[in-house]
Amino acid sequence: MAETPYFVSYPEAMEILKCHPLHLSTEHVSLDDAFHRILSQDLESKVNDPRFDNSSMDGFAFRFQDSISPPTSLDVIQTIQAGTSLPQTTVETGQAARIMTGAPIPKGADAILPIEKCRVDEEKSTVILLEEGKKHFIRKQGENLRRGHIALHQGDILNPSSIGLCATMGHPSVPVFSKAKIGIISTGDELKFPGEKLSENDIYESNSFGLSGLVRLSGHEAKRYDSVVDSLDELRDKLDIASQECDLILTSGGVSMGDWDLVRKLIEEEGDIKFWRVKIRPGSPPLFGYWNGKPLFGLPGNPASSHVVFRMLVAPYLRHSTHGGFQERKIRVQLAERFKTDENFLVLRRIKIDMSGDKILAYSTGYQGSGNLNSLVLADGLTLLEPGHSGEIGTWCEALLL
Ligand code: AMP
Ligand code: MG
Repeated sequence: MAETPYFVSYPEAMEILKCHPLHLSTEHVSLDDAFHRILSQDLESKVNDPRFDNSSMDGFAFRFQDSISPPTSLDVIQTIQAGTSLPQTTVETGQAARIMTGAPIPKGADAILPIEKCRVDEEKSTVILLEEGKKHFIRKQGENLRRGHIALHQGDILNPSSIGLCATMGHPSVPVFSKAKIGIISTGDELKFPGEKLSENDIYESNSFGLSGLVRLSGHEAKRYDSVVDSLDELRDKLDIASQECDLILTSGGVSMGDWDLVRKLIEEEGDIKFWRVKIRPGSPPLFGYWNGKPLFGLPGNPASSHVVFRMLVAPYLRHSTHGGFQERKIRVQLAERFKTDENFLVLRRIKIDMSGDKILAYSTGYQGSGNLNSLVLADGLTLLEPGHSGEIGTWCEALLL
């Protein structure tokens, strides 16, 4: 244990994790299966967007000069719909083309007036423009994206709008990282599956379910194992199975200082431990190491801590391994009440962020005990109160958006 980095600062923990990334293979998936997948390559547009100058309004296209002293009467010479080929007829002075949204702009025309600003005489095939034409209702070729432009990047997690953009750019399928299969093992004699009959000192096991959600939120695949009792042999067997079946292992519980903290004991004595304990509060017990060559995070057993440590260590680790991934969103908040801080620890309080006024204010969601999941459910952020921060009302800090 002498050489194991012990009680490292948060930045030190991140540096160690960066040296041991997961190596994931890549695959191609169709756009139908691309939601929440992580791009493994930059993606460039195969087309200009828009492909050609087109109208953003239903109305008339004409020469701007013809419209500068409304009302103006113009002869309607053609109708152009979206999807029809570019009309060969040029719009000359005194002429207009009826045009639909998305339809190509005919030669000669350089302005549009929406239909509601026009009076049409069908019999005479004329239109009276009631206002000056608008040049900005012409969407110019390539104004959104030029062919070859990289609009999505390796590591981006694909959301509904970015999937739409993949299609706009002409990609029927996209290169993504294969999902990491992440095994989740809870440890503790007292743990029972939710709903099971509880003996006097039992509690319902919750961490594996919460962690499984966090794994999927990160874009990966969770494999939840039944919890194991506090026995070195059972834990060793479960870790052996998980290390064969998974790319990464998360355990919860058993990493503190107690005699029954067997995860720590096992990784220390039979695995390969890279650090143990991190100066964050809550959640100081975690360890990172390897079991049978597979990376492993030993997360604390306290439910709020296991969640917070996933957010602070595991999520960035996965993100680093996929060159981006699950985007961490931070915001600067002003403390609306006094928060307990620490000289040496990064303090992660569960907060409600109020943006309804002209300030961005952070309120505690209540009792911050590391076993209290309820105050985490009420939270939409975690403070990132740096070591030595005063925590006084009115001071500022960064917060992680949950
Ligand atoms: P440990 O880290 O094993 O000492 O556990 C710390 C606290 O978290 C204890 O009160 C445990 O009962 C509780 N705990 C541990 N694992 C879980 C779990 N999977 N679900 C809910 N509570 C847990
Ligand atoms: Mg325990």
